[in-house]
Amino acid sequence: MQNLREQVATGCRILAQQGLVHEIAGHVSARIPGTERMFVRGRSAAERGLRYTTTDAIRTCGFRGEDHAAEGFELPLELPIHGETYRLRDDVNAVVHAHPTYSVLCSVAGLPLEPAYGGYDSGGLRLALRGVPTYPHSRLVDDVESAHELVAAMADRAACLMRGHGVTVVGRDVPEAVMNALRLERLARFTWQLRLAGVRAEPVSDADQAFFTRPYKRAMGADTNVATGRERGADTDWRWVSYVAEDAAHRRMELGES
Ligand SMILES: [Zn+2]
Repeated sequence: MQNLREQVATGCRILAQQGLVHEIAGHVSARIPGTERMFVRGRSAAERGLRYTTTDAIRTCGFRGEDHAAEGFELPLELPIHGETYRLRDDVNAVVHAHPTYSVLCSVAGLPLEPAYGGYDSGGLRLALRGVPTYPHSRLVDDVESAHELVAAMADRAACLMRGHGVTVVGRDVPEAVMNALRLERLARFTWQLRLAGVRAEPVSDADQAFFTRPYKRAMGADTNVATGRERGADTDWRWVSYVAEDAAHRRMELGES
């Protein structure tokens, strides 16, 4: 079982491996349970990008950056995205901020992310059904006021596009937030490709939507229930994307590349 700091580092590597961030941009954080503090990805002079995040880059600080144990590390400029989300939303324990291309394309074009598919990725369908709002500003969210506007735009949802900038995605834990980010980008890529093909897709039917929003039966020996909000298969999905991300990194190490 990974500890929280390892989960945040793994989340960063996954975002890069899955193509949701460029170079050194983007960060993942986690609320430290029972405190007003968080783990968040920092940068040092030896920064090598999100793809090669190690646990020493995952620092602790208060929700407004106070008392940070970040000797030799800089906290993200957009730290308020994380801290203000935790301050204002009790339901959120992990935050992802990334700059994924298709999500940004849809934000710039004003394309709504609609429920165009079901079984292809039912988690993405549920994101679409909850609605994905757009924060209308392209500037960096580097102050408390902007972060409050962003949190207000997102309301009680799991994801928000940020026009001409990126996405902020949340979850009750790191695996859920990271998987939501992957699903959001998949939904945006699908939406963009449909528009490119000149196709106006009908939303999936009400009956099919109901199929994917009903409580699940027992599956794979575990209670999984959409009513509790926990995605069916969330843990196995996380293991898979973690495996893929680690696999490539380990291969590089075996080849003696740094
Ligand atoms: Zn950003």
